Amino acid sequence: MKKITYICLSLILMSSAMIAQEQEANTPQKGHTNTNKFRQLYDEFSTPNMFRSASGAPGPAYYQQQADYKMDIVLDDKISRISGSETITYTNNSPDELKYLWVQLEQNKRAKDSKSPLIESSGVAPVMFPNAFTKEFMSEPLERGFNILEVKDINGKPLPHTINRTMMRVELPKPMKHGDKFSFSVKWWYNINDHVVEDGRSGYEYFPKDGNKAYVIAQFFPRMAVYSDVEGWQNSQFWGRDEFALPFGNYEVNITVPADHVLDGTGILTNRKEVYSKMMLERYETAKRTYDKPVLIVNQTEAESAEKGFSEETKTWKLKAENVRDFGFATSRKFILDMMAVKIGGKDVMAVSMYPKEGNPLWEEWSTRVVASTLESYSRMTFDYPYHKAISVHAKQQGMEYPMICWNYGRPDEDGTYSDRVKYGMMGVITHEVGHNFFPMIVNSDERQWTWMDEGLNTFVQYVAEQDFGEKYPSALSPQDKHFPSDRGPAKMIIPYMGGDQNFIAPIMTKGLNTYQFGNNAYGKPATALNILRETVMGRELFDYAFKEYANRWMFKHPTPEDFFRTMEDASAFDLDWYWRGWFYTTDWVDIGVKEVKKYFVSDEPNAYMRKYMEERGVKRNQLKPLVYLVEEGSEDFKEKMKTKSLLENSKPLQEYIMDNFTPEEQKSIKEPKYFYNVTFEKPGGLVMPIIVEYTYADGTSNQVTYPAQIWRFNDNEVSKAIASDKEIVSITVDPNEETADIDTSNNSWPQKIQQSDFDQFKEKIKG
Ligand SMILES: [Zn+2]
Repeated sequence: MKKITYICLSLILMSSAMIAQEQEANTPQKGHTNTNKFRQLYDEFSTPNMFRSASGAPGPAYYQQQADYKMDIVLDDKISRISGSETITYTNNSPDELKYLWVQLEQNKRAKDSKSPLIESSGVAPVMFPNAFTKEFMSEPLERGFNILEVKDINGKPLPHTINRTMMRVELPKPMKHGDKFSFSVKWWYNINDHVVEDGRSGYEYFPKDGNKAYVIAQFFPRMAVYSDVEGWQNSQFWGRDEFALPFGNYEVNITVPADHVLDGTGILTNRKEVYSKMMLERYETAKRTYDKPVLIVNQTEAESAEKGFSEETKTWKLKAENVRDFGFATSRKFILDMMAVKIGGKDVMAVSMYPKEGNPLWEEWSTRVVASTLESYSRMTFDYPYHKAISVHAKQQGMEYPMICWNYGRPDEDGTYSDRVKYGMMGVITHEVGHNFFPMIVNSDERQWTWMDEGLNTFVQYVAEQDFGEKYPSALSPQDKHFPSDRGPAKMIIPYMGGDQNFIAPIMTKGLNTYQFGNNAYGKPATALNILRETVMGRELFDYAFKEYANRWMFKHPTPEDFFRTMEDASAFDLDWYWRGWFYTTDWVDIGVKEVKKYFVSDEPNAYMRKYMEERGVKRNQLKPLVYLVEEGSEDFKEKMKTKSLLENSKPLQEYIMDNFTPEEQKSIKEPKYFYNVTFEKPGGLVMPIIVEYTYADGTSNQVTYPAQIWRFNDNEVSKAIASDKEIVSITVDPNEETADIDTSNNSWPQKIQQSDFDQFKEKIKG
């Protein structure tokens, strides 16, 4: 009889694990599909292979193609036209035989027959800016796009080729086998677009006051597409939004421009002595040894006098670059030029800026300093910047990146004054575009397919670099700012987006062209996801090591999303499938709250739960083994005296158990908590995240506990924690430092804080 009682009891004495399972059983059944948010991403990821390892590293058979270019480029400043001829040498490192090559012709996005404008839906707006109205209703398509004059093999024999919009297929005389090289030449010209009026990622700005143009030139030559183990040929058309996929190669480029222009671009300037004046060369030598402030190579007075020249002569600037995926240059007689050296991994790198006088006084003060600081921060987070220079060029409304050179906005008013918004915007965009040297210029992801892989990763490091810059140069900050006011990265900045209308949100893992809210989707959310992963989920040490490992594994290679996801786990022992799934593959949001808190005391008297059991089974009091009963404060079994007595005074069985089972020495170190709580957390949001909780006690102290995300593995809606405490808990706050992007904080505290509704606030305002 006694034995039977004992067995029954073991069934009803629930462990907290059993309580959790009971909660799981209460979750509505969702059929037989495995919807557990912690299941591995086997269905989403491609199977690892010899090209790409399961660890996220390049596999033993990893390969990448190479495209080397020799180019002669002539700029006709009067009619804003580029004419070029190039010889491309393509190396097939793939195991595949290639019958044809795909060449990219992005200028055709602007051609008269471009389909890009046709995929944009449009409608008559009630209010329009004159420039938008002119563009929409009053402009004729301009003569734009590549004019391909010839495509020939090395012996001058024309090669059959077909242009399909922004892609050109060049047929090979015989298939290229693994290891083969093939050289061919292309001749072309195109009319350069005015990037201020017509938009575009390159072009010129016209300055009506002095009649000059400032050119920022890119996508100016037919460029090889990427052939890889993942996509085969990446020949997805350029519609204007998704950027570029480009193979690495070596470039020798000769650029002929008016003799009074100042030019710089990707690569080492190999004929500096021919194109620099004696004065410029002397100042350049000084700049190479100056680490604390920019040295002017061409100053504003000199640039202003050059503006009047309009030389009929020309000069050829020769640039040579190794292991770059693209080439860009900027040229104008309006350019002021300054430089400063920065030590990166024991080597000198030149931080360079080029800007018309319209950029001053902002640009001479800050551009080059931001470049140098950015290189330092990114090098710390990834690898030492491997190129010899990084140039920031000022171009109106531009923010665009190429190897070693980028275009950036941020222009003061005509009287030289500028707002905080202009200043921080300029510093932010320079940090961002210089940062793109790392992602995707060196860690060469496929921008055409995955915008977030360069923009998201880059925006994340941009946030780190901006904060560094603010610390390094407090004088760059306005008096009201303690830190650089980054607008992407901090968790709470992404709340309006993630908590917004689900009809206009797409998962991060969506091709850029097809996403709503492009900036939030491909820049803001992935950057925030990585920042939260670093600060809240993994911790800086584990995250930074893994992130650096990813950058180093894929430096000068072509990574995919899986290579990133896998490496972050591989180098940290952090199972992150749940995190990638939630943040990158869904549009779920974070909302975790505290639902209910119950307080308990112990007692020797059978409580209601046990009395019901005894009645149902006909069990008598004397048949029960000694038990500890937990009584909820305020319940019918609760008595005020339980509060005043100690734990052991309240429970004889507990007292006896301790006496019988612990030595006097052990008894001394036993804890005797006074308060027992059952705290229930709820999760209206779809994302599983750690529960960060701050418990505040009656004596004013508090402590913070983080329950890892896996706490949600059995129940996606609510979980509870039993807490034994010496001190009375007076309040509980979930996510006290607002670090998880919780979209609704009205359920984040216990006791619930009375939150003013918008309407109440509105009423108060009216009263005030
Ligand atoms: Zn970017």
